Amino acid sequence: MTTELPTFSNAAPQQKPKVTANPLLTNLSGVKSIIAISSGKGGVGKSTVSSNLAVSLAQKGYAVGLMDADVYGPSIAKMMGGPDAEVVQKDNKLMPAEKHGVKWMSMALLTDEDTPVIWRGPMATRLVQQFLGQVQWGDLDFLLIDLPPGTGDVQLTLTQAVSLTGAVVVSTPQEVAVDVATRGIKMFDEVRVPIMGMIENMSGFICGNCQHETNILTQGHLESKAHQLGIAYWGGIPMDPEVAIAGDQGVPIALSKSPVAKRFAEITDLLIKTVADAQSKAAENTDSPTQISSDEKHVLLMWKDESVSELEFKKLRFACPCASCVNEVTGVRMIQESDIKDSIEPTGFRPVGKYGLQISWNDGHNTGIYTFNQLKSLS
Ligand code: ADP
Repeated sequence: MTTELPTFSNAAPQQKPKVTANPLLTNLSGVKSIIAISSGKGGVGKSTVSSNLAVSLAQKGYAVGLMDADVYGPSIAKMMGGPDAEVVQKDNKLMPAEKHGVKWMSMALLTDEDTPVIWRGPMATRLVQQFLGQVQWGDLDFLLIDLPPGTGDVQLTLTQAVSLTGAVVVSTPQEVAVDVATRGIKMFDEVRVPIMGMIENMSGFICGNCQHETNILTQGHLESKAHQLGIAYWGGIPMDPEVAIAGDQGVPIALSKSPVAKRFAEITDLLIKTVADAQSKAAENTDSPTQISSDEKHVLLMWKDESVSELEFKKLRFACPCASCVNEVTGVRMIQESDIKDSIEPTGFRPVGKYGLQISWNDGHNTGIYTFNQLKSLS
């Protein structure tokens, strides 16, 4: 078997492939960075920010995808100006719509606008899997994902399914909105997804007549929260009727020459720089395998320095760190090595975030997530 991790280089396989690679990761193998755009509350301008960052990145020459995962209020289709044609299915893949230099996909392209919200919840996780695994994204520098507000199933599915490069948090200036956004930050923290930056939307009001900017709401909550949490504050986007009009017309304001477009361009530069820094830091991390494969008896992990760890199946299965194999409080192992059959072998590997690997075994066990550090020390 050979499993390639999404952000790692493709070293030549050392062993004959035995188990098929995860189709989801194969589909995203041309995507260099995946950025989630999140918010605590709805209506704060998350989709507006997502669509404007996407077109702004495209204007700067990057290959960009935009995935609308906001199943409860999918607005990307409208903000991007709708598809030029019906969604095409080819070789079991969905072709994304393309507008303003951005490839995009939304539930709005696949379902009736009138689909009751109550059906959308159960559909949500399946839809996210489908968008990640079946949309023909091709080679992208950035795949932006417009999340639903809050911390629900979609967020969880996403963080478990792919290695996110990072998340961007959008909030309005009100203290209550900032407090709710902070809860989302904690969730990303727990699954080790770095918050790349925080954006304050509707931070001041731009008068349509004189273009003067007035701060209607008390400013500074988001900036001070960002400082307190050690997260970069990327500044504010004012409330400007032109932003809403542009969104409604399907031509994001970042495509214009307005002062707000300039702000979006500045924030886009901050995103580009932060992603580049994160990627070069990840490249320095020697504790991530570049390739995972197996021979008759061992899981083989090739590390950044091209050293290879050979981990015997039986020993690796015995070292399973899950709660049913080891007591979380005492650390005492609850299985014996003799409980494991000699015929034990892995049936699948799934990278989890940037830190570990979930291994499925032919005894039906699949709940253990081995951290890369643990795997390295096992060898
Ligand atoms: P969310 O994705 O957080 O639910 P949206 O991006 O859909 O929010 O924005 C909600 C509404 O607010 C939309 O009508 C949008 O056009 C408008 N809006 C968002 N940001 C701004 C802004 N900076 N100025 C004016 N209107 C805005």
